[in-house]
Amino acid sequence: MARRSSAVVQVREIAADMEPKFLECRDLMHPWVPHRARRVGRAYERTLFCPRCTAEKDQQIDSQGTIVSSRIRYPEGYVMKGVGHLRSDARAELRLASIQGQVRTGGWQGEQAVS
Ligand SMILES: [Zn+2]
Repeated sequence: MARRSSAVVQVREIAADMEPKFLECRDLMHPWVPHRARRVGRAYERTLFCPRCTAEKDQQIDSQGTIVSSRIRYPEGYVMKGVGHLRSDARAELRLASIQGQVRTGGWQGEQAVS
């Protein structure tokens, strides 16, 4: 129990200084879009791009369409150093930080709201 609550406190402190776009990607998941793709023999390699946080995902896909490897390269400031796998209570803490930021800005951070 003590370990669980200290992880939540740790995440809360990190989230307080985290950029809104990083909180949103942690809350809503990355909205991946295709960025690069090429054929390698009978298989494929592609890179997906997140237009919100600029993370990139490299995937290797075999001739049957199965993803055989996947690796994400995160931008500076995205990774929470010293925090391991997030349990549901820590993920809830990030979601709270994200939605509180959305409420403060009227729910739209991409552009100025039309008045
Ligand atoms: Zn993202």
